[in-house]
Amino acid sequence: MEEHGGRRWPLVVLAASPFHGHMTPTLQLAKALHGKGFSIAIAHSKLNPPNPSNDPSFIFLPLSDNLSAIDESASFTNFIDTLNKNCKQSFHDHLTRLLGEHNRGNKSIVVIYDHLMFFAGNVAVDLNLTAIVFRSCSAAYFPAFLARLQLRQEGRFLEEDYEMKEMVPNHHPLRYKDLPFSKAPIEDWKQLVSIISHSPRPSAIIWNTIKFLEDEALTQIHHHYQVPVFAVGPLHKITPSPPSSFLEEDSSCISWLDKQAPKSVIYISFGSLMTLNKKVLTQMASGLAKSNQPFVWAVRPGSVCDSEWTEFLPEGFVQETRERGLIVKWAPQKEVLAHSAIGGFWSHCGWNSTLESISEGVPMICQPFNVDQMVNARYVSYVWKIGLELEGLESGEMEKMIRRVMVDEEGEEMRVRAINVKKMIKEAVENGGSSHDRLEDLMGFILSC
Ligand code: UDP
Repeated sequence: MEEHGGRRWPLVVLAASPFHGHMTPTLQLAKALHGKGFSIAIAHSKLNPPNPSNDPSFIFLPLSDNLSAIDESASFTNFIDTLNKNCKQSFHDHLTRLLGEHNRGNKSIVVIYDHLMFFAGNVAVDLNLTAIVFRSCSAAYFPAFLARLQLRQEGRFLEEDYEMKEMVPNHHPLRYKDLPFSKAPIEDWKQLVSIISHSPRPSAIIWNTIKFLEDEALTQIHHHYQVPVFAVGPLHKITPSPPSSFLEEDSSCISWLDKQAPKSVIYISFGSLMTLNKKVLTQMASGLAKSNQPFVWAVRPGSVCDSEWTEFLPEGFVQETRERGLIVKWAPQKEVLAHSAIGGFWSHCGWNSTLESISEGVPMICQPFNVDQMVNARYVSYVWKIGLELEGLESGEMEKMIRRVMVDEEGEEMRVRAINVKKMIKEAVENGGSSHDRLEDLMGFILSC
């Protein structure tokens, strides 16, 4: 597998970002490319590093980031800015050293970088290497981001508009409230736009999505960048990968699920980053209690303001739900969603969670908070019609939503549509399917660089 048209196969260096929801699909992409025969190096920040023992055949390149933690309450934009400034020099040093070694073996290097790690793209371009960007968000997020940019430039999107339910003209199916970063302070938004303007023009784009699901957005992206776009998702279905969680998975929920009736349990999780208001969580607990439905609830320690773990729960909640509910710190989410006892997923609609849910045919309750989550929720509920979006944050509304998805006819109809999407995803990743074929095309593209 080392020779291609008389040339040695390039080393593929992937620059992974320290966010769990980015690291996991980047490592899955690395695994998929390794399975095709490429040697792989992973450049990563020292903050939230991947575990090298999961992938002993990869080279790991730690970058000096000088960062101690991701502070969810602080500015995301400042964090990205610092990350990019701090990691650039050590990435440059690693690449020049590797180039020295590989030139002697007549072997080139191709860089694939997470879109938040755009310094890696800039270094690659400076060194005359091919730079391919990897996007682990939904494709629909991109036109939504452009719409937000355009409206702001025209002075038509003001800070107080973020709750507007009117449709954005010419941007069907989005409402103003669905636009990315709609809740961010305007200064933060301006800074983000200015930082992102430093991203290089990539040679190609890899997207963790599926053609049939996001064809229109993928076409828009192709028109915008005029470079090849490879929709190779969902990567977790392309390549079986070991858990890459920064937290330890509590598998006890699987044996608990084994004892539950089919499609009877609602799974609740808000991902790896969100910090939630205690008042909202108390309403959730009370909605869950009133719904009378079995549940598995992943509550990440520290994810609720002023609570170390579950101290926010209303008095009597544990007692009342003991027979039908389980709370864990971190669930093996993909396994949970694939379990026959799961009938619904109450989610913040991060893109990984959304992909994992629809890949298993599980209808969703969408409670989005920021970045691409509102766009994803809009597609799940309004376009694909495989979920409902929570409009109010009171326990009564939550109880109603749980019943609509888990018990009512409406939920059954969503489940039928979701199972159809699951089937189509299965076909997309199989031999001859769109994602399978785009991965082959990506392999050809890398070899031609
Ligand atoms: N996840 C998990 N166990 C949990 C909660 C989340 O394994 O208890 C994983 C989930 O499978 C997904 C990722 O964390 O792959 C969350 O990514 P997503 O893009 O949905 O949200 P983010 O964390 O980026 O907000």
